[in-house]
Amino acid sequence: MPADLPLSHDVPLDTFNTFRIPARARRYVRVTEPGHLAAVATDPALAPLPRLVLGGGSNLLIAHDDVEALVLHMALAGKEIVGTTDDAVLVRARAGENWHAFVEWTLAQGLGGLESMALIPGTVGASPIQNIGAYGAEVKDRFHSLTVFDFADGTTRTMDAGACRFGYRDSVFKHAEGASLVVLDVTFALPRAWTPNLRYAELAQALAAQGSATPTPRQVADAVIAIRRRKLPDPAEIGNAGSFFKNPVVPREQCVRLLETWPDLVHHAQPDGSEKLAAGWLIDRCGWKGRHLGRAGVYPKQALVLVNNGGATGAEILALARAIQDDVEARFGVRLEPEPVLV
Ligand SMILES: Cc1cc2nc3c(=O)[nH]c(=O)nc-3n(C[C@H](O)[C@H](O)[C@H](O)COP(=O)(O)OP(=O)(O)OC[C@H]3O[C@@H](n4cnc5c(N)ncnc54)[C@H](O)[C@@H]3O)c2cc1C
Repeated sequence: MPADLPLSHDVPLDTFNTFRIPARARRYVRVTEPGHLAAVATDPALAPLPRLVLGGGSNLLIAHDDVEALVLHMALAGKEIVGTTDDAVLVRARAGENWHAFVEWTLAQGLGGLESMALIPGTVGASPIQNIGAYGAEVKDRFHSLTVFDFADGTTRTMDAGACRFGYRDSVFKHAEGASLVVLDVTFALPRAWTPNLRYAELAQALAAQGSATPTPRQVADAVIAIRRRKLPDPAEIGNAGSFFKNPVVPREQCVRLLETWPDLVHHAQPDGSEKLAAGWLIDRCGWKGRHLGRAGVYPKQALVLVNNGGATGAEILALARAIQDDVEARFGVRLEPEPVLV
């Protein structure tokens, strides 16, 4: 093993995942330079091990007490303006940067474009993995390119949006073809001519109530932060991973059939003719909001968020998730899909 590879053993992960699951990593590397990944890839003992790339641990459910995979904790730091195009300023941040701090930094540079995604927990490197989004905006809308290290051949290369295959909470990195890739940095194209994105009614109403008819990026960010603080539990106080289930997308005919029985079903027509159902509404209608199974619970203010009420194991959270999936499927014929990655 290379002498400079910071490999540790039996490292507690409870403060490295926002569910606060008390798991331990048998082998753990804090990646502060890309060379650490190259060193792992060429090490005969470490290279064959399964890997868990860890950012802020805010979209993970660790279901076991011991994580057998080699944990690569991304701590690459740095952010800068790297160039301009006719209509955008290009900003780049390395994978370990905190996402919200990066959004704040872009705003401090006078650059809008990421404000709707303020306060999403986690790292910049994880932002393209599930194409994070909030309040009508997604990472793919402001994405320029990213750099990856590929464990398959030990190379480093740049990928554009097409290669990342972004979808709703999805990208190539969540599929077999992307499993060998580790994101090292991400570059965003932030528009020179910024206009507010007020497609999300609650955000538009909040800004209108403040008299901000033509809000600045800072005002939009502040409104987003205020709404999020009101609606979502702070992981520093109560363990959670944000929305636990994706909003299911169903054929229009299925939605029409459901509306016959539940006229107040919350649904949104998609450009391809399908319908996206509000998973929180489905869970709420099954009576799960505010309930708990052991130490795992459903957040009383938002049925889509599962919480660790204190000392819950990953298996307890998973048992609650399965009970909810079964109930929703029995009532509505729709199987909810978890959003966090199961480890
Ligand atoms: C309170 C709360 C609110 C949330 N709100 C939102 C929201 O509004 N919208 C939204 O989209 N998400 C939301 N999330 C989910 C989460 O914040 C995002 O998915 C975030 O991008 C996860 O970042 P992370 O660094 O914590 O990733 P982790 O949880 O550490 O990892 C998530 C996945 O990404 C992989 N990964 C991480 N870093 C890298 C890398 N550098 N290269 C390759 N793979 C990597 C991991 O292996 C894992 O598969 C919320 C979570 C919480 C707790």
